Amino acid sequence: MIELKDITKTYHMGTQSLTVLKGISLEINQGEYVAIVGPSGSGKSTLMNIIGCLDTLDTGSYSLEGTDVSAMSDDDLARVRSRHIGFVFQQFNLLARTPAIKQVALPLMYQGVGRAERTERAEAMLKKVGLGDRMHHKPDELSGGQQQRVAIARALVVNPSLILADEPTGNLDSSSGAEILALFDNLHDQGITIVTVTHSNEVAEHTRRTVLLRDGLVTSDKRHNGVGNGNSHSNGTGKTTSVQAAQPAAVGE
Ligand code: ADP
Ligand code: MG
Repeated sequence: MIELKDITKTYHMGTQSLTVLKGISLEINQGEYVAIVGPSGSGKSTLMNIIGCLDTLDTGSYSLEGTDVSAMSDDDLARVRSRHIGFVFQQFNLLARTPAIKQVALPLMYQGVGRAERTERAEAMLKKVGLGDRMHHKPDELSGGQQQRVAIARALVVNPSLILADEPTGNLDSSSGAEILALFDNLHDQGITIVTVTHSNEVAEHTRRTVLLRDGLVTSDKRHNGVGNGNSHSNGTGKTTSVQAAQPAAVGE
């Protein structure tokens, strides 16, 4: 689904320039659950922004679901983003003073979905992430973990084929973080492709593949089992019906 070939990215600031990505090649298949890890400043967010069509690459090629996105116009990129990709950020990026239901319905408005259907789908998604009783709460009336669940519902409401998360648990206490990871485990069991950028070992351990970025290059790429619920009994059909099984995962050690 994601095919990056030898991509580079350089930032220019005045007379200085910094090459952050120095030739990244990476293939990610439909349904994978991948962590991109590496020290701070290694280019993780830059890479994620490119994968998410939020930023463009300098050289190399990027194909998303068989479409070459490296040459697309900004409008086309925006369309790809809004139809195929759900984003989850460390800072939640919710609108202040806006009830959860409206936050989640918003991406559907951009797609031209009518009001009644928007509300219905937003409600259903908030229920799925365990916020059925918080639909009319505003961000400052919700805990960090609940705010991140609103953000995840907003990411999911368009039925994206890809979820991109940048340090999704970075602003959360460990039990809220565990809830979010359990939710991701569940989405993975449903066949959604998830790519998460993290410097947390705990997050990486939940995924099934860890790609290590160092100094602008992929220096290791390993598939492994996840520690979350679902890894020992994944039915492989991608047909799990609910993401409500968001009970904290057993994250030992
Ligand atoms: P990571 O997410 O791994 O911490 P980033 O991709 O955010 O790394 O950043 C990699 C390097 O690029 C850092 O040195 C950062 O300061 C620099 N950088 C990131 N974004 C920009 C930008 N828009 N302009 C200039 N430099 C940037
Ligand atoms: Mg970053």
